[in-house]
Amino acid sequence: MSDDYRQMWKELGLDLDAHDALLGVLGQAYQDIYLAQKQRPEGMGYFDFVMSEVHGLRIKELVDEKAAGRKIVGSYCVFVPEEIVLAANATLVGLCSGADFATEDVERMLPRNTCALIKSSFGFKLGKVCPYLESADMIVGENTCDGKKKAYESLAGLVDNLYVMDLPQVKSENGKALLKAEFLRFKAAVEKLTGVTITAERLKDGIQTVNAKRAALHRLSALRKTDPAPVSGLDGLLVNQVFFYDNPARFTASVNKICDELEKRIAAEEGVFAKKTPRILVSGCPQAVPNWKLPMIVETAGAVIVGEESCVGERGTRNLTDDSGQTVEEMLDAIVDRYFQVDCAIFTPNPDRLDHIQQMVAETKADGVIHYGLQFCQPYLMESIPVEKALEDRQIPCLRLETDYSMEDVGQLKTRVEAFVEQLR
Ligand code: SF4
Ligand code: SF4
Repeated sequence: MSDDYRQMWKELGLDLDAHDALLGVLGQAYQDIYLAQKQRPEGMGYFDFVMSEVHGLRIKELVDEKAAGRKIVGSYCVFVPEEIVLAANATLVGLCSGADFATEDVERMLPRNTCALIKSSFGFKLGKVCPYLESADMIVGENTCDGKKKAYESLAGLVDNLYVMDLPQVKSENGKALLKAEFLRFKAAVEKLTGVTITAERLKDGIQTVNAKRAALHRLSALRKTDPAPVSGLDGLLVNQVFFYDNPARFTASVNKICDELEKRIAAEEGVFAKKTPRILVSGCPQAVPNWKLPMIVETAGAVIVGEESCVGERGTRNLTDDSGQTVEEMLDAIVDRYFQVDCAIFTPNPDRLDHIQQMVAETKADGVIHYGLQFCQPYLMESIPVEKALEDRQIPCLRLETDYSMEDVGQLKTRVEAFVEQLR
């Protein structure tokens, strides 16, 4: 790493030794899991580069944006509308939370039986190893699951720029009115942060930029429906993870470029795995960077992942925002309509998610579903039981897994996944 980066990290307040250790582990994991794959599309080279520079060049870009007066907004959830952030001339970045860090310190602030995602978000703050978190001018928390909403009360003591967004839990007219009121409050907060008034023109631009990112991912998802699969599930997940960090226009162009390449592969019947390799849909909790544990296990067990019903995947990106409105009010309504369709398990009841999983099984021609639940995540673990039942009623095999970010259970998970894959053959 260049001295310039070290200076930049120091100025952001990172703990350089701890950060070196994190990058060392990350780099090795990337080498072992990603670069060891065979037949990868050339276009993945861009995403390899992004990952190699995830704490370097991209942070430098954000720091430069800040120097030019632009604000950075960090978020932990796909309910935070990027359209509004972009319209106020700010940049939205996801705060990853995909690896354990500073666990002992975290467990002094949070109960042990808190999901790995929440613990990780605290670990990255307490360990001073996340340059995205330290670059953010505003950190947005949201009242989704109980774990998160209570954890934000404690996080407020660790950061001085936390903004908490309330969210509905029921898909009713009242729920929708709450979402709209909260998006309006968020719009005012972002305008205050940036000093930029959101006009209809700016909002339309924001909507179109985010829609273009999503549309590129829709194109990628459609190509993953082919047998043989033209791209691995590991790489599919990585693209969905990079969605949260990268410059939007560059991300869109890079995904479209890889899609062009995949179309040629499909025409030539080339795949990353042989035809008729068992196809798996993963459904459940988000898999944030660098949580690559499940796809690594599945794809070294002789199956291929063909889609993610997840917030780092189709739950987060599947619907576009209608951009036909002419006024800020009309476009805000369209944004509310779009986000109100997100079928997170925090909603009760949540039948849309069951329908969506079955729709994805049919479209991706998946042979089975692995439900990925993080330990102590009540919403998704609770929902995994009706998900399994609904799938089994339709003769779709389902394997429910419950895990965390540690590597201790890899052997045990591998045995269960291998048995499941055998059943699918
Ligand atoms: S699973 Fe729910 S709480 Fe988590 S990122 Fe998705 S919408 Fe937000
Ligand atoms: S994984 Fe579950 S418990 Fe953890 S933050 Fe998401 S919804 Fe909450």
